[in-house]
Amino acid sequence: MALEHLLEVGEGIPAPEKIRRAANLQDVRAEHARSLADPHGFWGEQAKRFRWSQPWTRVLEWRVPDHKWFLGGKLNITENALDRHADGPRRNHRAFVCIDEDGTERSITYGELRDLVSRLASGLRSLGVGVGDRVIIYMPLTLEGIASMLAVARLGAVHSVVYAGLGVGALRDRIVDAGAKLIIAGDVGFRRGKVVELQGIVDEAVTGLDVKNIVWFQRRGSGGRALKEGEVDFRDLVQRSKPDVAPVQVDSEHPLFILYTSGSTGKPKGVVHVHGGYMVGTAYHLRTFYDIKDDDVFWCTSDIGWVVGHSYIVYAPLVEGITTVVREGAIDFPDPGIAWRVVEKHKVNVIFTAPTALRMFMKFGGELPAKSNLSSLRLITVAGEPLNPEACRWAFEHLVEGGKRGFIADNWWQTELGGPALGTPLCIPSRPGAVGLALPGVDAVVVDTDGKEVPRGQGGVLALRGPFPHMMRTVWGDHQRWAQYWEEIPGQVYAAGDVASWDNDGYFTVLGRSDDVLNVAGHRIGTADVESALVSHPAIAEAAVIGIPDPVKGEGIKAFCILRAGRKATPELEGELIQHVRHELGPIATPSSIKVVDKLPKTRSGKIVRRLLKAQELGKDAGDLSTLEE
Ligand code: AMP
Repeated sequence: MALEHLLEVGEGIPAPEKIRRAANLQDVRAEHARSLADPHGFWGEQAKRFRWSQPWTRVLEWRVPDHKWFLGGKLNITENALDRHADGPRRNHRAFVCIDEDGTERSITYGELRDLVSRLASGLRSLGVGVGDRVIIYMPLTLEGIASMLAVARLGAVHSVVYAGLGVGALRDRIVDAGAKLIIAGDVGFRRGKVVELQGIVDEAVTGLDVKNIVWFQRRGSGGRALKEGEVDFRDLVQRSKPDVAPVQVDSEHPLFILYTSGSTGKPKGVVHVHGGYMVGTAYHLRTFYDIKDDDVFWCTSDIGWVVGHSYIVYAPLVEGITTVVREGAIDFPDPGIAWRVVEKHKVNVIFTAPTALRMFMKFGGELPAKSNLSSLRLITVAGEPLNPEACRWAFEHLVEGGKRGFIADNWWQTELGGPALGTPLCIPSRPGAVGLALPGVDAVVVDTDGKEVPRGQGGVLALRGPFPHMMRTVWGDHQRWAQYWEEIPGQVYAAGDVASWDNDGYFTVLGRSDDVLNVAGHRIGTADVESALVSHPAIAEAAVIGIPDPVKGEGIKAFCILRAGRKATPELEGELIQHVRHELGPIATPSSIKVVDKLPKTRSGKIVRRLLKAQELGKDAGDLSTLEE
């Protein structure tokens, strides 16, 4: 790739002058310094922009690992996301443009959305949902999926969205862990022109559980199964209910949602975010990092099943009163030019997508974006996995006219953190390969395993020295697990689980996970989850899973299995095992290959050394193997 085209100077690639001058955040270093010097003043000022039925008395209380924000304050995030606009001049402003994969479009204004959410909340209340109850949402990326989240939150209940596509075992674990009695689910989703069957997964997952009601969003048309006792039709529920639910006022620290993510132990962690701090922090970054203006059209290509979708499809854009494009289905279907036609048609100003999408666009070449008018597009931001320098430069060159029209901004965060923590805002140059600086509110460092800061330019583990308002509060039902994040490294820091380095200017580079967690197309998948799924198959005695480089997905999954006595390795068995993992965990965790082995490398203490399998697979040095079993 020809660097000269990109105006890349010693410091990196700057945003075009016009966009930089108009950026909402002009001096990230000064703002960062101010936020750390006086978190009370800084975040208190941000929080004042919103509606609170009772003001807070203290901004922050912090004792490792517990942090509370806006103490004594009462609010409901949906009042700020809906009523604040629906009762004011933005009542008729479009909240969402929802596009189906087949091109069907629906728009909804803030006034209409409040009405829909209030009716649904009323219907859910009639089914007994109240403050603090957990509701599982297993819905495709639709307006109804979003309204479900908002309706639950409006009641002060707690939603836990499970990506509609995760398998039976994963869904069941989450229903049980959250203790949910009600599920809102779609019967089918649509992806790549195909129907994705969801109803069968839900039916199997709830078998034997104490789930009282299922609200079905039925899209299949004819041919679906009849509703059973305790099951309700989504549209009927909305129609027969009145828009009479006012946002229930809850404490700032009241849980808003639980979102499960993979760790290294095989039991998903229920990350808990709360009404007050989450609202203030995610909205702050939408304005400053994602540089959103009041009349912008924003398109976040994630899904409501992931944290990026929670924060930047649903909550922050609504809290800020802007218009968001929501599109169900694959970003390259029906053809890889579709993304650019959506940008042209809806005059999208800012896109938030994933590095895997940029690599996919790069694979198809620059001719496709060149066919559409992308003049509205000034910022493309990506998060979820490392953005390779080639993909970053390609995006500058082909998506924003070689950096003359717009900017490409990487940002790093996690389900636990709720919003961006490291990134390259428009006011500083992009350095392909590096994520960027610690953003306001975030005290990030790179340390060694003893907690000592590593010199600039050297690698270590990424840690945070304190909390910010939109950082998680606890792991649902397991507060000790939250404390573990702060105990892993000496020095009372939050261990992010990533390997990173930083340079003299404060730019961080994040290389990948330091634990047994894979990143497949931006999705966090625990090796232990896939291994447990494999071992639950009657043919498997033991399994180990590693990530192997994949040019588009970042990582693919390779599994090594030891068979039980009497079982033989056959191509049919391999197919069956792949299907089995898919059924349990869903398509995103499907191994790309399975190898049957007689033995797995283990330490003397019996831990599988995945590092050695990986080194052998990639033909690399495995490093120190002194603790390996003979
Ligand atoms: P999740 O909680 O599913 O959002 O996954 C968070 C993990 O994704 C992080 O711990 C990183 O390993 C990875 N990640 C997220 N954003 C980036 C980024 N911009 N660069 C490198 N890795 C990233």
